[in-house]
Amino acid sequence: MKTYLFVYSIGPVQSFIAAARKTEDFWSSSYLLSYLNEKTIRAALESKQHNVKLLSPAVTIEQLDEQMGGGSADVAALPNRFLLRLDANQDLDVISFAKQLEQRTIVTFQELATDAINKVFGTLNEHQYIKRLADKQLSEFVEIFWAFEEWTNKVENASYNNIRLTVEKRLASVKNNRIFTIQAQNALVCTVCGSREALNTGDISDSTIVQKNVVKDKDARIKDNERLCAVCLTKRLARGIFKERFEKEKQLFQPFPSVFDFATQSNPYYAIIMMDGDDMGKWISGIDNKILSGFKNIDEAYHEEISRRLTVFSGQSVPNIVKQSKGRLVYAGGDDVLAFVPLDELLSMIQSLREVFSSENGLDMKATASMGVVIAHKKEPLQRVLTTVRELEGKAKAYKNNVQQKDAVAFGLISKSGQIRRAIVPWYLDEKKQLSVIEIMIRLREVLGETLSSTFLYHFYDAFSPIMPQGEKADLAQEIIDLEFRRLISRASKNLNQNELNSLTEDLLKIYSISLTFVGFLHLLEIIRFMSGKIARKEEDQ
Ligand SMILES: [Zn+2]
Repeated sequence: MKTYLFVYSIGPVQSFIAAARKTEDFWSSSYLLSYLNEKTIRAALESKQHNVKLLSPAVTIEQLDEQMGGGSADVAALPNRFLLRLDANQDLDVISFAKQLEQRTIVTFQELATDAINKVFGTLNEHQYIKRLADKQLSEFVEIFWAFEEWTNKVENASYNNIRLTVEKRLASVKNNRIFTIQAQNALVCTVCGSREALNTGDISDSTIVQKNVVKDKDARIKDNERLCAVCLTKRLARGIFKERFEKEKQLFQPFPSVFDFATQSNPYYAIIMMDGDDMGKWISGIDNKILSGFKNIDEAYHEEISRRLTVFSGQSVPNIVKQSKGRLVYAGGDDVLAFVPLDELLSMIQSLREVFSSENGLDMKATASMGVVIAHKKEPLQRVLTTVRELEGKAKAYKNNVQQKDAVAFGLISKSGQIRRAIVPWYLDEKKQLSVIEIMIRLREVLGETLSSTFLYHFYDAFSPIMPQGEKADLAQEIIDLEFRRLISRASKNLNQNELNSLTEDLLKIYSISLTFVGFLHLLEIIRFMSGKIARKEEDQ
């Protein structure tokens, strides 16, 4: 018997999640991917002859049962890949193991599609034709990659970590060398993805038959002018199908709130956040001083501990924080979080998420994370909001100032006119991570419009923007800026307690001094002013 490390991934993640026009589609795509992975992991754990042990995520069947039977069963919680250890006599046995997993992934998807097709085309004679077309579309859509490496002590330097790196490299090269299949198209294309054939009966002369036979089911939510392919149809009907499958958990699988539910009548803006742990590759490999405290060796036990901590973070800490903030999670798996939240809870929620990541309920005290945050009007197309939040998360990850890299948050405010204001700040101003930028933002937000007029912001802009080249910081002594800023903000004070005014002023100046650009600092202040205006108005209405 030999021991192997084996990695398996399901995609394409981007295509799964792209083409989401509503929060509901977005939820169902993320959930579907997580569900396929869960069923595949189960198949791996159930294959008795290989003595399989999941290493990342380090879950057992019992833990999966607990998760799927618990109150968060409707949150996508599994990453789209897993790493495991197995025993086999020879390479060929590992390949046949992999083939069985592939089969499980695809069949799971096809079964969901069958449910969807039965709901929509239940009485149609041409049912079998549609079913075959759907099976073909699904198996062509799903991209499954896997790689493995024998792990024996005969090989030199065959440490667990070296073998793991070899397997990961192999997986990456398999992905790079994938063959794109060209899909022949015989009928009208799907109105959602625009890339696959809409499901049809094979009779090209009657391309309308599909929509004529759509059951007007309340779960179906298919409009008269829509024609869907198997992938888009399955996503569209996913919630109803999952609801039936998880019958015991009746309170779950409630429709995902639309962005309209995160906005209010007086405040039509909401926020979406995307968070990601920094340097996860380094933490996993234990390099650059990024190794869990208490560990010296990068072995199986180390990876199980990383996986266990991330499971606590994404399975308990994050759902609790998001729930308390009246937000809704789309995805919380490993170090990745994606959630919607009402504007008035945004700042306190993101501060809690960042804090918990470097606590005992997160990865490690030294661990850091970056985040993209977008504030958008409820009528802004969701696709644009999602693209922007992803872009901003990337900007936060690329953040760099004189003393640190990453560990930042990038805000974007998409105004009703479509204009975007962006501001990127580190989470903390000091090395000990006690002076939180978000807490300073909250303090300013609370006094603005109340005991501090926001006029100082415009006067500050007027005073300096003419000498700031293209919004960059001019080569100007910081004292001059400080002096003028202090003067303007104190003039704007309306009975704000002097001590509070002083400390707020100094903290804001610290933010200015680490701001990369003049315009970035101004945008940050404008974003705070914007939030303060929206939230204050909401409270007056109540
Ligand atoms: Zn489609």
